[in-house]
Amino acid sequence: MESHPVREQAIPRTRPRWRRALPLCLVVGVVAAVQLGERAQNRIRVVQPTARVIDVTLGTGETLGSVLSGFGLDASAARAVGESLRPFVKPQEIRSGKRLRVIVDAKEGIMQGLEYPLREAVLSVTSTPEGWSAERREIPSARVTRVVRGVVSRSLYRDGTAAGLTAAQILELADIFQYEVDFFSDFRRGDTFSVAFEEIRYVDGRREPAKIQAAEVTAGGVPVHAFRHTTEEGEDGYFDNDGRSLRRAFLRAPLNYRRISSHYSVRRMHPILRTVRPHLAIDYAAAAGTPVVCVGRGTVKFTGWHEGYGNLVEVAHGNGYSTRYGHLSRIPPGLRRGDRVAQGDVIGYVGQTGHATGPHLHFEMIQGQRKINFLALRIPSQQQLAGEELGRFTELRDRHLFLLSDAEFRVAQNPS
Ligand SMILES: [Zn+2]
Repeated sequence: MESHPVREQAIPRTRPRWRRALPLCLVVGVVAAVQLGERAQNRIRVVQPTARVIDVTLGTGETLGSVLSGFGLDASAARAVGESLRPFVKPQEIRSGKRLRVIVDAKEGIMQGLEYPLREAVLSVTSTPEGWSAERREIPSARVTRVVRGVVSRSLYRDGTAAGLTAAQILELADIFQYEVDFFSDFRRGDTFSVAFEEIRYVDGRREPAKIQAAEVTAGGVPVHAFRHTTEEGEDGYFDNDGRSLRRAFLRAPLNYRRISSHYSVRRMHPILRTVRPHLAIDYAAAAGTPVVCVGRGTVKFTGWHEGYGNLVEVAHGNGYSTRYGHLSRIPPGLRRGDRVAQGDVIGYVGQTGHATGPHLHFEMIQGQRKINFLALRIPSQQQLAGEELGRFTELRDRHLFLLSDAEFRVAQNPS
């Protein structure tokens, strides 16, 4: 068995504390208290401990069984412990990096009980006359709405994390506002941000941020808002002040590209044919094999080889829009004409099939019969709330606007 970090603490008989779900992070404090007690041993009579608690972190290749064998359990007893946990946690989830707490008797170090922490509960295994038995105990928690505000002086990332946002929340913001704000270039010194989110606070001191509820950022002095709302169809999304979805009918681009190697143009020297021809598409240069996603939901109209396009996929999106993705190295074998695709579904991989001088995606946006300039298209919003639902949204929006623009904070920020 690999060595694993083990911390021990003595528990006096008078207070069988292990019977309660002890938060793991309190251990350090308890250990310190026990050590103080040991130093004072010469003067004070110490209650002999009858049980000890040992915290174990599973190492690479270790299993619950291999750990328990180190605490005097034979294979069938270890299996019984595993079985008792099975209704609450999948056996394969108890693996390297997971922590558990073993309660052993002070004399011989034989296991008497076990605690396995989950996110919101602790599984407690004890020995009963019927055998090993596990029970789940909730870790008390509360949901608290937090608002983090700040002023951009260096970058939203640095000022945001300094103000108390996590890196994941800043990425979430960039995603929410992807059509409104370019998070790499639009911010100026003095721009502000205000983000409301729920935080789950556990009694053991852990804090976990939940989804962003509302946000206001000013980028280049222009404020933009997002409010989280669950639609009547049960879909979660972010909406602006007027109840328009911040999701658009089309993504900004169908792939993560290196650069645009050719813009939409009515006159272009064709690199292979050496003649002036229109290029009514966007060419995105990217490494061969880069996944290409459908920019909007729709129905597949064509997949396969088509002349200079090489491997081509065409998708119809409704309202007269369709998109074409050319020069693909490959198309997922299951993708067929007539299939429904969602925004963001992978429909192929970058290649240089057909007339192409290097790996890139040839992307066309068609409106009616015309190939239009996708980069100049004002992409319509995916959804506009209306009627009663808009009323419900407006109430929620106003509550969140109040939170985001707390007057006290304004005073604190601008003491003049
Ligand atoms: Zn092209």
